[in-house]
Amino acid sequence: MNILILSRSAALYSTQSLIDASRIRNHFVRVMDHTVCDIMIENGRMKVYYNNQVIRNIDAIIPRIGSSATASGLHLIRQFESLGVFSTLSSEALLLARDKIVCLQVLATHGIKVPATIVNNSVHSIPFLLREIGSYPVVIKLTQGTHGMGVIKVDTPKMAETILEAFHTTNDKVLIQKFIKEAQGADIRAFVVNGRVVASMKRQAQPGEFRSNLHRGGSGESVILTEKEEEIAIKSCLILGLKVAGVDIIRTHHGPMVLEVNASPGLEGIEGVTGVDVAGKIIEFVESVM
Ligand code: ADP
Repeated sequence: MNILILSRSAALYSTQSLIDASRIRNHFVRVMDHTVCDIMIENGRMKVYYNNQVIRNIDAIIPRIGSSATASGLHLIRQFESLGVFSTLSSEALLLARDKIVCLQVLATHGIKVPATIVNNSVHSIPFLLREIGSYPVVIKLTQGTHGMGVIKVDTPKMAETILEAFHTTNDKVLIQKFIKEAQGADIRAFVVNGRVVASMKRQAQPGEFRSNLHRGGSGESVILTEKEEEIAIKSCLILGLKVAGVDIIRTHHGPMVLEVNASPGLEGIEGVTGVDVAGKIIEFVESVM
């Protein structure tokens, strides 16, 4: 097969892992930086250009689209879709999953439990909303944050009000979420490929920290999911139309809840912690649809 990985750099761990997994399986693979690709939109003559060349004869693309390059990634995936090229991430699924609010709305509508979340738009409603959320602490999240950055635990309504007002002045969009105390700084990353959980790890925040992200110093270990956790991980991907995704689940007194679904999940943490060749599973999935 002729596989094209859309990625900012071949040197990134996830990209390199996908290159290795493709080559081992005798596929031709190349990497294209989606942020510097050009496209031609014309009836019956859709084209993708890279380094002044037309890109042709691609069997499948594997998009690795970081949140800062969502728009260019989206347009390129759509272009390949219109050329009939298979993508492990559809443009529609990327659009749904990338918007944290839409993602939670869609999941909750389909019966997937998510932490109670308020989207605050009006500065005047802050005191009312802070009563509405009920218990403290709460978590305030920047909707554009990644790797746990912009996720703040706030202990009192007064402090929450001050922080929310500050974000209003900078025009940052935020969520207010119930803090899941019983999670004790842990969450689960379930890696789903084509409707199956292929690897899962529990991430534990370091002492004094509630964010379990490996980027924030959290540590990971392999974990066996309960039937319910596996079911909601798979169902979340199905609902969002994601074939390859990382589903973040938090264990609560009310059962597992989905924190978020990542459409371009990194491979380094999950492969390192679990020893599973996740990149290989992705390439085998691509082989299965060709
Ligand atoms: P990001 O997308 O930046 O990783 P998340 O919403 O996943 O942001 O939050 C980062 C981490 O913070 C999570 O992995 C989890 O450990 C912790 N966390 C997030 N939301 C909550 C919550 N409502 N209650 C308890 N812990 C939370």
